[in-house]
Amino acid sequence: EKASNYQELSVDTIASRLKTIDAVTSRIGTDTSKWQVKEVGDGNLNLVFIVEAPEATLIVKQALPYVRLVGDSWPLPLYRAYYEHEALVRQQQRAPGTVPEIYYFNNEQALIIMEFLQPHIILRGKLIAGEKVANLSETMGKFCARTAFRGSELSMKSADKKADVGLFSGNVEIPAITESLVFTDPYYDAEMNHNTPELEGIIKNIRSNTALKNRVQKMMMKFASNTETMVHGDLHSGSIMSTDNDSRIIDPEFAQYGPMGFDIGMLTANFLMAYFSQPGHRSQADLSDYQGWILATIKETFEHFYAEFRHLWNTERTGMLYPASLFEDQGQSSAAACDDVLDHILQDAISICGIEMHRRVLSLAHNADFESIEDTSIRAPLEARNIMMGAELILNAENIKDISSLTSMAERFN
Ligand code: ADP
Ligand code: MG
Ligand code: MG
Ligand code: MG
Repeated sequence: EKASNYQELSVDTIASRLKTIDAVTSRIGTDTSKWQVKEVGDGNLNLVFIVEAPEATLIVKQALPYVRLVGDSWPLPLYRAYYEHEALVRQQQRAPGTVPEIYYFNNEQALIIMEFLQPHIILRGKLIAGEKVANLSETMGKFCARTAFRGSELSMKSADKKADVGLFSGNVEIPAITESLVFTDPYYDAEMNHNTPELEGIIKNIRSNTALKNRVQKMMMKFASNTETMVHGDLHSGSIMSTDNDSRIIDPEFAQYGPMGFDIGMLTANFLMAYFSQPGHRSQADLSDYQGWILATIKETFEHFYAEFRHLWNTERTGMLYPASLFEDQGQSSAAACDDVLDHILQDAISICGIEMHRRVLSLAHNADFESIEDTSIRAPLEARNIMMGAELILNAENIKDISSLTSMAERFN
């Protein structure tokens, strides 16, 4: 297999491994004695190094042949770096300026060298610290709208889009992680699950609710078989890096073709988990202001999403779907058709949101938002609110017609 020459990088070997790559030396020079290397990977899967030189700093990301969070007992194909790179290239085209610039890619080494985002830090840390990020909703709403629209047959030529679906369909193992950790494991006693012990009763209720499990499985069927657009696939607050007014999106190794509502739904869940976890992170005095900001961010993200999607609908609808020949060319408006598509995106987003809220407290990969609240007597009731609202969203997705219904529901559960 292609992995035969693959070698894991380390802090000690990175200089000798990278010093012959032009894309590296043109940016940070050839004097490796001046390079300072740190491994900073905090994710669940990959190695990430910062290589700092007097001239510039680079990020070096390398896939590992196993799941880092679990160890070599769980092998995972290196080819995910290939898809991550392909996804970054498409996101750069479809939503310019929102992802790190790529300097170098090596498929055999599962290696991506890219722009070092600075002074950006992971958004989740800011949400836990109670820091507001200006323009966050605009960046994220537009990113989700542009990638959803421009990766679909509302925009793309069918032949190109179908070829792209074919290309991404080679990525089997990564969607399989989502299919088990997100859609399946929360709803039974899966081996790698863990949860706050105080939640046992509520978890039992969730797992005995077959109507809810039916809904989740229906959504998984859609996730696995619908190819509306290329989704980021892992758009949580650990995949966003922000300053106090600028945000970028990283880590699209879970990219695949799937439902247009997937990314904004997962993102919304992560904002809601930040919201529900706040009482574990700050005093009553600052609580309502910051929680209010999070809910406003959710609302404004959707508003930017809708506005940008409508704008693209009116200006870039060049694909085979909803052609002008059926509407504008006959002197008819397609605005109602656009609203209908947006309603369908919202329904999917709400279901995905509820499912993501569940898996982050019931399955393997938890969020620091809750997990860093050490006192489980404080954490458990906050996680319980999150689980209950998640269930409500999954069971009633079609009755939630607008985003203010969702934010007022969050206030009720809080
Ligand atoms: P994983 O796929 O293992 O989750 P990520 O791509 O999320 O890896 O990167 C892990 C961490 O490395 C991020 O949380 C962030 O702190 C840091 N990082 C990744 N890419 C960049 C970048 N382009 N600029 C600065 N830091 C980055
Ligand atoms: Mg990550
Ligand atoms: Mg837990
Ligand atoms: Mg990742």
